[in-house]
Amino acid sequence: MVERTQADVLQSILDSMGDGVVVVDRVGDLVSVSPAAIQILGADPLTALASLCLPDQRTPCPLADTPLARAIVGVATDAAEFFLPTGRWLSITARPQIDDNGAICGGMAIIRDMSAARSAEMALRQSEERYALAARGANDGLWDWDLLTDRVYLSPRWKAMLGIDEGEISDTPAEWIDRIHPDDVETFKVRLSAHFHKLLSFFEYEYRIRHCSGAYRWVLCRGMAVWDETNHATRIAGSQTDITVRRAVEQQLQHDALHDLLTGLPNRALFIDRLDRTIAIARREKERRFAVFFIDVDRFKTINDSLGHARGDELLIIIAERIQGCLRPGDTVARLGGDEFTILVENLLDDQSVDVIVNRIQRAIAEPIMLGEHQAITTISIGVTTSALEYTGSAEMIRDADTAMYHAKMSGKDRHTIFTPAMHTQAMADLQLESDLREAMAHSELRLHYQPIITLAGGRVNGFEALLRWQHPQRGLLYPGSFLDTAEETGLIVPISWWVLREACQRACEWQDEFASDPALTVNVNLSARLFAEPDVVSQIATALEVSGLPSSSLKIEITEHNFVDLSGETGQILRHIRDLGVHLCIDDFGTGYSSLSYLYSFPVSTLKIDRSFIRRLGLPDGQNEIVQTIIGLAHTLGMDVVAEGIETEQQYEQLRDLHCSLGQGWLFAPGLDNEGVRALLAGSGTMHT
Ligand code: C2E
Ligand code: CA
Ligand code: CA
Repeated sequence: MVERTQADVLQSILDSMGDGVVVVDRVGDLVSVSPAAIQILGADPLTALASLCLPDQRTPCPLADTPLARAIVGVATDAAEFFLPTGRWLSITARPQIDDNGAICGGMAIIRDMSAARSAEMALRQSEERYALAARGANDGLWDWDLLTDRVYLSPRWKAMLGIDEGEISDTPAEWIDRIHPDDVETFKVRLSAHFHKLLSFFEYEYRIRHCSGAYRWVLCRGMAVWDETNHATRIAGSQTDITVRRAVEQQLQHDALHDLLTGLPNRALFIDRLDRTIAIARREKERRFAVFFIDVDRFKTINDSLGHARGDELLIIIAERIQGCLRPGDTVARLGGDEFTILVENLLDDQSVDVIVNRIQRAIAEPIMLGEHQAITTISIGVTTSALEYTGSAEMIRDADTAMYHAKMSGKDRHTIFTPAMHTQAMADLQLESDLREAMAHSELRLHYQPIITLAGGRVNGFEALLRWQHPQRGLLYPGSFLDTAEETGLIVPISWWVLREACQRACEWQDEFASDPALTVNVNLSARLFAEPDVVSQIATALEVSGLPSSSLKIEITEHNFVDLSGETGQILRHIRDLGVHLCIDDFGTGYSSLSYLYSFPVSTLKIDRSFIRRLGLPDGQNEIVQTIIGLAHTLGMDVVAEGIETEQQYEQLRDLHCSLGQGWLFAPGLDNEGVRALLAGSGTMHT
């Protein structure tokens, strides 16, 4: 066994140490270095030890102050911290080396690598600083609940959120929980406990909490617990955010998604939801009866087009209010869109109560409505279907109520109809009609017939009224009563009317060329009110005249009095443009409207046509001539022509002549004739019934 020297022993101790050891002689030259020192300081430990920085990581340590330099002049250093530009943190202890004579013979430094500890510590400090900064700056309130002592720390922001001053609330959690809304507190506790038992990976809950003003605020609370070895939660900390504004916005959005913005009524989605629920309940409770009403405003489009959309909206709001006023709190009124409303009447007693409700609504709607300076009188058509038909879905029930409404509309508006399964067939037929009508346009199945208008004094043909006919491939010749409403509803009336205009002008011009007369023959064309909302109505008329070559004074446009009432100021302007073309305007069906006569002054009208219903009463035993007499007098006073419509008997003819009515038309003279018929008539004497 080799005997080991003292130096060998020392070296092996040094080699095994984690701390590095560097020994220098009295002039600072390297005597020995341990492997750990090489590892910490690198291959050149002396240079490394000469380049130490102070703990601020920036300022180089003066060479004379480095631990070994101090050691060789006899000064010890105890665990001083330095930073190496390589990024390491060192703790260095240094001692002078004393020889046997008590003289300094060198120095020794023990170097400990502190890097790992320091960086953990720095990271901790940084994160603590960050946390403190965040807590101060955040909008969130913070809380930290020690479950072992049952004390909770609430941050100033947490308290401020509820208007609580520092010191106004203690650190007992009960004071927090007491402020939670009674409806939310149970769930709060349940969720918290679920998290403590690790059933929820974190605690999160939105609840209402009482502000010191007494009002509740919505808050979002989040937290995360810490558990001990036995899986008992010992502490939970988290944040609380005020989400009152977000909640309000959400609630508004939710409300908006289910309600009509204009009237505030439930919308289609909500209506369907309620109806589905009612149907489901009724399937369990057989005796429960309910009904769906489908309401459509009559002639809404005319009002909307003539008075403008803002007035149309006003009208809808008023109608919505009136309908609502007629119902019980449990019933639902919805606006499906446009001028369509639906009602779900729950707990219907019997079928009579349907009539009662309908009458109530119709009476409410019938009250005149002021729209700006215009007084509008509106009516509605109502379709009803009841649970007696054992519906299984809301879609069918609404569809059938709609079909019934359509029937009410077709049978003259301002009334109600209760759905019967037979209507289904009819509804299909109507759909068919619409598609047929489109085809009719494409295949030129439309025709015009012309009814002569004659001078009552001389029996001379003055002109013709163009009347629309449809040569239907299966159903034969159709009169406007059977398809005009469909044309109006689908908007097909617009292209149809332009066609009628051109066709009538064309024919009239041909007749004038072939059968000269003085005054020249005129042609009357019926235009529905909605045409006057078409932007190109004036240019369409001008084009029809231009293309045909018909003098504008030979064209007369008929507008029914009913429609006239709805014509707004803007339409008056259009009518004046038409008059400026030289075209005449007639008020059709005069006497049936209920408006004031003021429009006779404000619109440029040249002819009144007395409605058929007044002529029919002429010559009856109790026939009243006064109305007809008044209209004729009025027309003369205003310098207008007057035409009596629907003259069927000699008696009517004679009376009208005696009343000095200048013009007339009716089956007594001739029905509507096709072009051949007209030419045959004109080719004859040109006079009739003298
Ligand atoms: P209207 O303008 O009052 O037209 C007169 C209607 O009375 C015509 O019915 C005509 O055939 C009918 N008539 C004529 N003489 C007599 C009579 O002596 N006794 C009876 N009871 N009726 C008579 P028609 O052709 O079925 O037209 C019905 C309505 O359709 C018209 O009423 C008019 O408002 C509308 N219409 C007709 N053609 C057109 C058109 O081209 N465009 C538009 N928008 N509407 C039209
Ligand atoms: Ca007419
Ligand atoms: Ca008429």
